[in-house]
Amino acid sequence: MISRFVIIFAMLALSAGNASLVPNKQSRPNIIWIYADDHASQAISAYDERFREIAPTPNIDRLAKEGAIFRNSYVANAICGPARACIMTGLHSHKNNVPNNGMPMDFSNPTFPGILRDSGYATALYGKWHLKVAPEGFEDWKIMKGQGRYFSQDYRVKTAKGEKEERIEGYSPDTVAKMTMDFLKANAGNGKPVMVMCQFKSPHGPWSPAIRNLDFLKDVEIPTPPTFYDDHEGRVAAGKANMTIFKTMREGFHLKGDPDSAHYDRLGPEQHKQAIDSLAYENRHLASGKLEGDDLKREKYQRYIHDYLRCVKANDENVGRILDYLEESGLAENTIVCYSSDQSFYLGEHGWYDKRFMYHQSFSTPLLVRWPGRINPGTQVNALVQNIDMAPTFLSIGGAKTPDTMQGVDLTPVLNGEKPADWRKSLYYHFYESEDPTHQVAKHEGVYDGRFKLIHFYEIGEWEFFDREIDPYELENRINDRSYLGTIAKMKTELKRLKAQYEVELP
Ligand code: CA
Repeated sequence: MISRFVIIFAMLALSAGNASLVPNKQSRPNIIWIYADDHASQAISAYDERFREIAPTPNIDRLAKEGAIFRNSYVANAICGPARACIMTGLHSHKNNVPNNGMPMDFSNPTFPGILRDSGYATALYGKWHLKVAPEGFEDWKIMKGQGRYFSQDYRVKTAKGEKEERIEGYSPDTVAKMTMDFLKANAGNGKPVMVMCQFKSPHGPWSPAIRNLDFLKDVEIPTPPTFYDDHEGRVAAGKANMTIFKTMREGFHLKGDPDSAHYDRLGPEQHKQAIDSLAYENRHLASGKLEGDDLKREKYQRYIHDYLRCVKANDENVGRILDYLEESGLAENTIVCYSSDQSFYLGEHGWYDKRFMYHQSFSTPLLVRWPGRINPGTQVNALVQNIDMAPTFLSIGGAKTPDTMQGVDLTPVLNGEKPADWRKSLYYHFYESEDPTHQVAKHEGVYDGRFKLIHFYEIGEWEFFDREIDPYELENRINDRSYLGTIAKMKTELKRLKAQYEVELP
């Protein structure tokens, strides 16, 4: 005990004595990056009132109340693995070499965790990874195998010599939050700042709720969104895509007509019975085989949205646990907490579930950041931001140099809701994965300036143009509307300019 005091006293004296010469590294904040999978902004009550009364997210909302909510937060490529590579590298997909899902992370590019680690941060990654190869740049990691499961997950665990496999019991959002807190307990406050990535599988399909949340929203009829019956008229790629709740969503897998798909097979006997009994009740209308047409559509939506929101509830509960731990441990004051998702998600909009398109519900993504003493409570950030910005932002916060090659921008100038005059005026988007046989979303790229959105489905030779100010649901493709000719030409020029800036060679 005595020697520890002596060391701490010596370190304090040293840092005070050299204050003008050496940056006080202990003053750098801890960073917790909480990253959900497929968490729609609409399902966060700080963003949207759609589920505010019936399924609020009070703990995630705390981040907005005590920090900043980003109202114009978007992704570069709305699909799991590629989005994760964008976060790690600060690069668009064509530069980070992970344009499609299922591709391995390419560590030939610098990553923000690696640079932070080299600059003195204790770094860790827990939960969903989805980039195949062993993570680099982390002192510790435990990653889910493949897509991950909800109950009793098999993890790849970093060891001194490499890695081992370990089955960890429990509901995976709970276990991932626990790993995060365990790393903080072991490392925070020991002189090194900490950066930990806490990455939930939830609320990704097959939307298996925690046993404690099986009865949440039971028998509650949840309204469908205004575009639930969208016929995709005038939008060829949307019409070709295969991701409607009605046709594509599988009753056996997504709605758990086959209980094994819900990952219930690893539950103990008592919990297994609770889960199966609940499923039998929830699936009773579908199982009757009597529903058809709009009745069947609505019932599938109910089954989907109930389980989706139950999974969201577990994320919210675990954000609460982490925030409570930060308060109790005294770490809250010097810890940045972020909540985001690899992309947002369709919750019945356009008749869909899933993601991929540059339309609003998958192009956007939630981003909430609490940083006591630096971000004023209740801050609204309206500047256009993108997931490639997180790497340079964390490097800036951590006092490390951002490589010139990174394409994202440091968000610290907009954290207080101000928008500098020279802030970016538009965002570039590119989805590459038409080979995916399930969803068949044509490759496309596009540009968005906060009001107008131009999308080029180059694979099928289709252009789309939306004025979100008068058409926020993006139902009216105005590419042939003569009153927009000038604006469309400007947006095409802007798309070209962005492609030159980011060195996009294709298509
Ligand atoms: Ca995802």
